[in-house]
Amino acid sequence: MKIGLVTYSPEKVEGYEMNVYYSKWVDGQVFPAAKDMQNDVTCFCDAKAIREDPSLAATSKNGPALRKNRKANLVFDYVCPTNPAYQTKVLEYIESINKEDIRGVTLNLYHFPDQEFCTCPRCVELCRLSGLNWTDWRAQAVTSFIKEAKSRVKGVFAVEMFPDPLMAKERFGIDFEAIAEMVDYFHVPLSARDYTTNYWVDLLTQDFLKILKKPVVVELSGEMINDEKAEALLKTVAYLSRHSLLGVLLLVHDSENARQIARYAVKNSEYRDWLCKNDFKHMIRIVDNWAKLY
Ligand SMILES: [Zn+2]
Repeated sequence: MKIGLVTYSPEKVEGYEMNVYYSKWVDGQVFPAAKDMQNDVTCFCDAKAIREDPSLAATSKNGPALRKNRKANLVFDYVCPTNPAYQTKVLEYIESINKEDIRGVTLNLYHFPDQEFCTCPRCVELCRLSGLNWTDWRAQAVTSFIKEAKSRVKGVFAVEMFPDPLMAKERFGIDFEAIAEMVDYFHVPLSARDYTTNYWVDLLTQDFLKILKKPVVVELSGEMINDEKAEALLKTVAYLSRHSLLGVLLLVHDSENARQIARYAVKNSEYRDWLCKNDFKHMIRIVDNWAKLY
């Protein structure tokens, strides 16, 4: 198992073997590609674009896919994923970062906001013309966008997902079987304020490993507010290292946060003894490697 990062700063950090950079954000900000890194592209969440043109938002009988719509429980503002002009904007951005020397592209938020979206006239008409039912049409719409994106990526190609192993297709149009044929790996974000309660991380990881037909990386939030939270995070990573994951990625704000985690693990002899005593061999390798650097 590799240890890696998801970060907002465009630089790799020593001791981390997979480095993912957020290059297009949910708030609409877009950045130049980060060289030699996996660049993570938010596709259809764009608060800025929707502020400038509210008609871009995905819609339903209960209103638009916006955070301020309390009839939906959404944490981002979603553009309708069949909007051809917005699709072109995303695909052109993916093309532009692939002219740089990047490791690859991870797609994020490339799907429908939830089951009742999108009922804009274009989506309703596209569904009718397809002859498919609502669920199958939505999955086909998402899968064909991913195919378009993949054709513009020269390196490693991966997708994130809403971490629902059971209802992904019905709710979001995410068809894991079809997507597995296109990606090098799946990136499962399991974000939390802390991992002092962590059974659900292990549970969802095992579910995803069972259903996804490609390698899996799991992302955990890497903010370390205090020693208790740092300890809980590092123990959770150790437990995950017993499963056959390609990697665990820690979401950090910047490179210094990542170094803090490594330093904390290296200096914590109690934690390192605990790893040895319980034979967490992959995690021991990771921390031993950190000890050479930090
Ligand atoms: Zn629509």
